[in-house]
Amino acid sequence: MKYDYLIVGAGLFGAVFAREMQKAGKSCFVIDRRNVVAGNVYTEERAGIQVHKYGAHIFHTANKRVWEYIQQFAEFNHYINSPVAVYKEQLYNLPFNMNTFSKMWGVKTPAEAKAKIAEQIDGLHIVEPQNLEEQALSLVGTDVYEKLIKGYTEKQWGRDCRELPAFIIKRLPLRFVYDNNYFTDPYQGIPKGGYTKLVEKILGDIPVRLGIAYKDFQKENAGRGAEADTFGKVLYTGMIDEYFDYSFGELQYRSLRFEEELLTGCDNYQGNAVVNYTEREVPYTRIIEHKHFEFGTQPDTVITKEYPAEWKRGDEPYYPINNEQNNALYARYAALAQKEKNVLFGGRLGQYSYYDMDKVIAAALDMVQTELR
Ligand code: UDP
Repeated sequence: MKYDYLIVGAGLFGAVFAREMQKAGKSCFVIDRRNVVAGNVYTEERAGIQVHKYGAHIFHTANKRVWEYIQQFAEFNHYINSPVAVYKEQLYNLPFNMNTFSKMWGVKTPAEAKAKIAEQIDGLHIVEPQNLEEQALSLVGTDVYEKLIKGYTEKQWGRDCRELPAFIIKRLPLRFVYDNNYFTDPYQGIPKGGYTKLVEKILGDIPVRLGIAYKDFQKENAGRGAEADTFGKVLYTGMIDEYFDYSFGELQYRSLRFEEELLTGCDNYQGNAVVNYTEREVPYTRIIEHKHFEFGTQPDTVITKEYPAEWKRGDEPYYPINNEQNNALYARYAALAQKEKNVLFGGRLGQYSYYDMDKVIAAALDMVQTELR
């Protein structure tokens, strides 16, 4: 067969790109090295509950175009993310808001909370934050940093907060109202029936071949000689450094290990979908209780403990570590990518960016527009 596009990776980026290209009359063929579609948003049913197998995914966006786009493929529920943080037996609401400050200092009013934070920041004399620690301290002061940020962040990234870029913490809003909604975006929810079904719906009738890595696929296809399929272009959504055989060296990623448990006969384990453990000494960063993402009423529950880990070859990469050194290395790979005339690179791994789902979709839609121009 002759296809316009070979799409490597059946995650959100690849699926949206394939769908829109097909709609524009281009033929697409999708492959994935895993035996399932949906990439890291993959969910699987267990005890009637959609389990987020590669980490919890909460859809949220301020982009109306993306929100309307995704609604075509699933109905979204009205889940609002309000994580709770545990630090030495004390519970605090996230994101940092009046509930958090009131618990931490016994304050009641925004003025009291602001005064408390200002008093802590004043002594620090940070003018222009150079790293995550300085950024956090200059935003929230010492107490919140020490109790709710430092340990969690250092566990998650496996690095000292002084060696991490400040932008990571910009994801954590600070507000002076009693509002536990983690995200500030106007649109938020979880697709009813799970993300796998959503991605399957996006892919529709586009041919997909699972369980084969890109290089093996190429070898196998070339081996078919005159019978081989041909592809006008490739969209590659895997790791960009792997694509180039790590020729400039490895980019760094964080990986995760998940410990999943079915608790039979327990209908509610922690009373919330997400509970963060912000102490350095607790080896996991959070416990997810999946049923609460969908207001589940099953008699049992499924929980997952999330353990951050350093990535090494063969592990699943989850988070690009966008510090200066890695970004500089990525720029060299991106320059090589520019020269691959018939290959496009997209997604968290292909573009080495800490993208949320909505950004992935927006980037895929933009790429489609550029391609069709
Ligand atoms: N963070 C933190 N304490 C928390 C939750 C988050 O310090 O209890 C910081 C931490 O630096 C983390 C960043 O906020 O890397 C983003 O966290 P989030 O949970 O939004 O990241 P996700 O893994 O969901 O992308």
